[in-house]
Amino acid sequence: MQQIIMAYQGEMALKGLNRKSFERALLKTLRYVLKGLGSWQVHTAQSTIYIQPTDDTAQNNADEAWEQCRKVFGIASLSRAAVCEKNMGDITQTLLAYLAPQLSSAQTFKVVAKRADKTFPLDSQQLARELGGIILSHYPKLKVDVHTPQLTVMIEVRERAAYVHAGKQKGAGGLPVPTSGRAGLLLSGGIDSPVAAWQMAKRGLSLVAIHFASPPYTGPRALAKVEDLADLLTPWTGPLPFYMVPYTKTQEYLRDTLPKQDYFTVMMRRSMMRIAQIICQKEDCEALVTGESLAQVASQTLQALACTDAAQSLPVLRPCIGMDKTEIVDIARAIGTYETSILPYEDCCTIFTPPHPATKPKLALVEEMEQQMPELARLEAEAAAAAEFSLRRRG
Ligand code: ATP
Ligand code: MG
Repeated sequence: MQQIIMAYQGEMALKGLNRKSFERALLKTLRYVLKGLGSWQVHTAQSTIYIQPTDDTAQNNADEAWEQCRKVFGIASLSRAAVCEKNMGDITQTLLAYLAPQLSSAQTFKVVAKRADKTFPLDSQQLARELGGIILSHYPKLKVDVHTPQLTVMIEVRERAAYVHAGKQKGAGGLPVPTSGRAGLLLSGGIDSPVAAWQMAKRGLSLVAIHFASPPYTGPRALAKVEDLADLLTPWTGPLPFYMVPYTKTQEYLRDTLPKQDYFTVMMRRSMMRIAQIICQKEDCEALVTGESLAQVASQTLQALACTDAAQSLPVLRPCIGMDKTEIVDIARAIGTYETSILPYEDCCTIFTPPHPATKPKLALVEEMEQQMPELARLEAEAAAAAEFSLRRRG
């Protein structure tokens, strides 16, 4: 019996003229996530994507392929279906064989039929009724429940074939990467920024990760942890460009020359944003993404965020801004980054931090102090130029 994954598009089906490029992006992502899982044929027809195993390895990896497809943004729902000929005999036989486990364990069911091929002799309602009757004759204990059935038996009669499955399941939703453009992601080893990355990838944004490291204050394991986080994000983001910015000299310079220590964190964050902007220019990124959440720490008050934003000219996207930590943690667990994020290695953001950081920094004062730091711009430019590039891929 030929089995297949069918993916149904969400919001993107509405996007009119963009539809073709949306579909192209989606197919490319699907091919990427299926790499290493055997040979798959992926094609689209009438807003449905057919994902079909074409060798034994692919067939044996069908469960893994299904899990990967469920992570692909731009897919509203999907189903695992058995393919049959467009005649009642084959449809009945395939349905009874393919859905036998579900039919034996459910108590209530309904049949939903969709006839896209209008040459099929029965219309949707007749087909559903007919199949419902056949199912009842094989499973006399089953009851029909059209409102809240335990099992929905679905039959779709389409152009090339008919497809039987146990109902659609929710997909990852969102829009396909990279249809919304490209942004720099400030990726730390914390919990928040991987979640921010996932949220923006969900809206179709392609990301370039930028990580600041300050060896020897931060160690190789801290860096390896962030690289692991980047790898963990790739089922959603696709291959992820990753820049490691050597930040030690700039950070030491800030520590040693800053007249007001309680402004250290906000000054450092501005400096990071400027360096990130230089990398964004090189990488054609049109925005920055951070994991900041309002008032989570001193550098994330409104006044501090205003100072950070004013350091550079790109829009700063902060998808976690209105979320509680517990909500962010829930997402981190669901996407599988949490366990890595809580590994206890020092991040450069937590070294040299003053005991009482200013919670209401004044932009005028910040700018005045930067005027008195003649080497700052040069050190930042050098740090950006020395950033080490790697491309993170699926592990
Ligand atoms: P946590 O989950 O511990 O809050 P965090 O990464 O959010 O981790 P914050 O100090 O709240 O840590 O940092 C706010 C944001 O600044 C991060 O979400 C991230 O976008 C950015 N950031 C912090 N440290 C770094 C770093 N070393 N490299 C790149 N970006 C960083
Ligand atoms: Mg945070």
